[in-house]
Amino acid sequence: MALLLKNAHVIDPQNDIDEVTDVLVRDGLVVAVGTDIELPEKLLVKDCTGKYLIPGMVDVHVHFRDPGQEYKEDVLTGMRAAAHGGFTGVVPMANTRPVIDTGAMIEYLLEKAAWEPGRTRIYPLGACTKGLAGKELAEMGDMVAAGAVAFSDDGHGIQDGGMMRQVLDYAKMFDAPVLSHCQMEDIVGAGVVNEGVASTRLGLTGWPAAGEETQIARDIELARLTGCHVHIQHLTTARAVDMVARAKAEGVPVTCEVTPHHLFLNEDDIKADSYSTNLKMNPPLRTKEDNIALQEALIDGRIDMVATDHAPHAAHEKALEFNHAPFGTTGLETALGLLLTHLVLPGKMSWQRLVEVTSIAPRELIGVEQVELVEGSTADYTIIDPELAWTVEEDDFYSRSKNSAFLGQELTGRATDVFVDGYASMEDGVVTF
Ligand SMILES: [Zn+2]
Repeated sequence: MALLLKNAHVIDPQNDIDEVTDVLVRDGLVVAVGTDIELPEKLLVKDCTGKYLIPGMVDVHVHFRDPGQEYKEDVLTGMRAAAHGGFTGVVPMANTRPVIDTGAMIEYLLEKAAWEPGRTRIYPLGACTKGLAGKELAEMGDMVAAGAVAFSDDGHGIQDGGMMRQVLDYAKMFDAPVLSHCQMEDIVGAGVVNEGVASTRLGLTGWPAAGEETQIARDIELARLTGCHVHIQHLTTARAVDMVARAKAEGVPVTCEVTPHHLFLNEDDIKADSYSTNLKMNPPLRTKEDNIALQEALIDGRIDMVATDHAPHAAHEKALEFNHAPFGTTGLETALGLLLTHLVLPGKMSWQRLVEVTSIAPRELIGVEQVELVEGSTADYTIIDPELAWTVEEDDFYSRSKNSAFLGQELTGRATDVFVDGYASMEDGVVTF
């Protein structure tokens, strides 16, 4: 059965497409794009009038807590949350229990996903060091053989510079990028909020930006030394952006991502009358000035992509007092709405740039085939209603956890339909699997 996506506003900067047209899909591939397509007899038609159709979004930074903490999220609930947020593929981090640090663990993840057309793609990632302990190399070759596309010790920065150098030397042999969560633990200490006005006002231990920036500086130099692609995860400060931009200009193989919460929230949002733990992040929310700098850098290309750092936690864990609650916010189901509401719809960021930061750059990072709107390309698509107004509410989430930093916010625009390999993973706002 062929599928005709009719009257969609198609955006594909790779092929300079920005027009209302039709897309014909069969057997997981694009058969034709245009308004004078010859149509087969057996045809399913989906009217996309008023909607945008873009290459499916990929999130290179999610936590699915599976195995070990499935009460927060498991692979299936995570995949459903991804589909609901408009994503066709995700890269789950390795900080599960046990850690994903062997080929067998990569296989576990792929088997648990039980992938078939119409389900969110899992692009597996392995730990850099055994047990994320930062002491000994993980089974990197074994994991590549099992399907790993990248490496990361996310949750921790690798504290030992010599260890990090060894990780990069090995990853380079497999032509795999290393995704780096940059925090010097001896500088960050027991910090829980940005060090400065927020830590003073709230009476909480400060987490200085220098803890992040010093490790970014180290990893840039190690990327220069080894030639391995280092991708800086969730950077949060204007200074960090400058450092990465300077390194890129010098030809160092470095890229970076920013999260929606670091783009659109800052330390002033943590109120002394509530101490909302949904705003407790690693790294912490920084300043209003950083928000503005990060948004500008995302728009002008100094920041390569958006990643959510989707970090589900159970209600009883986030109910602890601020010092004891775990770090993180969910993000898969709010990212697109936030980018549309705050950047695209007000005209600050183009639709083309939205596609670059949510679809093209993430696929380029992990080295998987690009999705295009041309004949022969894989049919992984996100279809967006730019006018749909909605409120971020716990009941709306497919994720098993509800700890969103954006609860109560009113947003405009969201994904209504998602196709993976030509089959729907979400139809009219309802996830199909
Ligand atoms: Zn992290």
